[in-house]
Amino acid sequence: MLKLGAMRWTRALAPLIDVVFPPRCPLCGAPLAQHGGLCVACWQGLSIPGDPCCSRCQRPLPDRSADQGAEAALARADAAQGAWICAPCMAEPPRHHGIAAATLYNDVSRHLVLAFKHGRRLGLADLMVRLMVARLPALPGEWLVVPVPLHRWRLWQRGFNQSALLAGGIARALGQPLLVDGLHRPRATPPLGHLGRTQRAALLQGAVRANAARRAQIKGAQVLLVDDVMTSGATTDACIAALRKAGARAVRIACFARVIDDTQAIAPRAMPDPQAAEPTQNAGTETTGTQNTGTQNTGTENTMAPEA
Ligand SMILES: [Zn+2]
Ligand SMILES: [Zn+2]
Repeated sequence: MLKLGAMRWTRALAPLIDVVFPPRCPLCGAPLAQHGGLCVACWQGLSIPGDPCCSRCQRPLPDRSADQGAEAALARADAAQGAWICAPCMAEPPRHHGIAAATLYNDVSRHLVLAFKHGRRLGLADLMVRLMVARLPALPGEWLVVPVPLHRWRLWQRGFNQSALLAGGIARALGQPLLVDGLHRPRATPPLGHLGRTQRAALLQGAVRANAARRAQIKGAQVLLVDDVMTSGATTDACIAALRKAGARAVRIACFARVIDDTQAIAPRAMPDPQAAEPTQNAGTETTGTQNTGTQNTGTENTMAPEA
């Protein structure tokens, strides 16, 4: 009732809000027709995983009609579902039951994530959730929506868990239960950006645990694990191990941006930020992502994808 009233007010005030805060693209500042989206140029800059792509990791696969030689690298693992699996996933089958990535990590998605996470533009969550939900396959039955946890120190620094915000939006959109504290991170880990896969996995050993008070809910459940940026998969692997240990039956991953290969996460050009002058923006305090969304500091940015 209260929510409905609030919605009615928001709608009634919309023209006034548009006059005071004209709709602008949150990434580049271009004027928009209405709030809540991106400008055409920024939309076009987002890289949405297309077909064909690996059903497990969303790695784009070569078009078979264009490259017959690629056939050898592919295997039709599940003919019934027509699911394609890439060579790396064939060689080392992932522990999850599939990833749905809203975007492939590039300049635009990186800028969006940084504005959301370090620039505290929490309003971007709605847009990110919409894009994430659009990429999810039909999920029959009940799926517990569980965010990748932050260590409490990181949570205290940032003030919010970006994955938990996304998980909340996804749970609402899907009408599925949210288990925001299903996992926790009892041990802080150093920045993983510069490390190889094996080193990341070793550092994350035991760093994520299932919440003992939530084990009964996790046991036998299907879990949709939510992450903002998925890099090597070391963090999500640690989450999956903890969920499996607690008895989860299946784990799928929903992420906003998928780094297909670490070399992708090289320094991109800085995009102008329309709210760069805002004094409240304080985005440069983190060790894993020292990027400041506001300034054009191309030279000093941490170039790796933030995996935290
Ligand atoms: Zn834009
Ligand atoms: Zn794959």
